[in-house]
Amino acid sequence: MFADPAALDTADPLARFRAEFFLPPGKIYLDGNSLGLLSRRAEAHLARVIADWRTLGIEGWTAAAPPWLTLAETIAEKIAPLLGAAPDEICLTGQTTANLHQLLATLYAPGGTGFPARGPCDHAHGPNTPCPAPRSVILGDALNFASDSYALHSHLRLRGLDPAQHLRFIPSRDGRVLRLDDILEAFAAPDIQLAVLPAVVFTSGQLLDVTTLTRKARQRGIIIGWDLSHSIGAVPHSLGGESGPDFAFWCHYKWLNAGPGAVGGLFLHRRHHALAPGLAGWWGVRADRRFAMSPHHEPAAGAAALHIGTPHILSLAPLLGSLELIAEAGGLCALRAKSLALTDFLLALIDRDLAPLGFAVVTPRGAPARGGHLALAHPEAWRLCQALKAAHVVADFRAPDLIRLAPAPLYTSFTDCADAIARLQTIALTRAHESFPESRALVT
Ligand SMILES: *Cc1c(COP(=O)(O)O)cnc(C)c1O
Repeated sequence: MFADPAALDTADPLARFRAEFFLPPGKIYLDGNSLGLLSRRAEAHLARVIADWRTLGIEGWTAAAPPWLTLAETIAEKIAPLLGAAPDEICLTGQTTANLHQLLATLYAPGGTGFPARGPCDHAHGPNTPCPAPRSVILGDALNFASDSYALHSHLRLRGLDPAQHLRFIPSRDGRVLRLDDILEAFAAPDIQLAVLPAVVFTSGQLLDVTTLTRKARQRGIIIGWDLSHSIGAVPHSLGGESGPDFAFWCHYKWLNAGPGAVGGLFLHRRHHALAPGLAGWWGVRADRRFAMSPHHEPAAGAAALHIGTPHILSLAPLLGSLELIAEAGGLCALRAKSLALTDFLLALIDRDLAPLGFAVVTPRGAPARGGHLALAHPEAWRLCQALKAAHVVADFRAPDLIRLAPAPLYTSFTDCADAIARLQTIALTRAHESFPESRALVT
């Protein structure tokens, strides 16, 4: 018998967290991987910072609770368990793309011989073996979010290097997912200095095997980093320790519900903490020397050295609420369990009700390769998405033919999932989508 969504909601240990969120009235919200919803807790923390600003003025830097001066570090401690990293390996700053630029500026060392050597060969291999080939290629992937590849291109140009020679992308055979053997083959090239991959592919929702790929890259002497934009808050990570990757970066406005344009984050593994920040600024100076305004940059310990300017206090504040809720829910493993239950339930409904109507799931089905959202391919995806919106289901379209459905473990119910699939089935059966414009270009 098919699981009853109401019974699944009753049995759901996280069901009570739905009441902590402001759900758009009358809508089924399945877009938490683009912009997570506001929680009462996040709103309260933001309101408190604003009240402190009102009453304390500049004294808020030291007298607010917690003080603004160390708010980024306070949050790094609270977010560390989601990333399996030490707090001093995390810096809450910038944006996803800006943080990628900062990490490239810090870690990309063209012409060197790879980790751990930087710069020209140190001849540690001895006199009887030839020097290893210099490494200068940055490796990305063909499915990358465009902003990441703009950053890679422009970073290379800034270094005076031609992206045509120094940037390589791992191909995708079907335009949906990356294959492990294709990635490993790309890693085998001797000229790669640094690789950047997404933990979850933003279109198809494929979750890559971060642990294995990190190990393989490091065995090859490649500096390896991960874009966690679509995984942080949905999938637990384990970035710290001996076998961890070199760097990672992400945003907090998707699964972490910190609000539109919220501050981003980055991870710099402890093994690189002696490096000078590529892009230096006064907030990356040791806290006790920051106001000395010395002409010489004295970096803060750990990833905090990669701060550039004054932290975004107003957009950090909501994160306190988001992280409080995750801790109360039992941590990210509890969220991941619910997320997998939601996407399992959606998959069963899709197979039964939508597959016969020409919808195909492009997200890998196995739990270890599935992120938090599902992607459905359909030739009419654009019009179907508009019809869904008119039927009060907020999902999103990704060109050329994908509908993304993102159930958020803290606020999406099994009933929401069942209702959304039923509405999509009705639209497809009645061809309601055919009254919407065919091309996205016709819509402003
Ligand atoms: C959302 C997202 C971004 C967004 O970049 P911002 O600099 O935060 O605007 C970048 N990369 C990926 C993979 C994303 O999913």
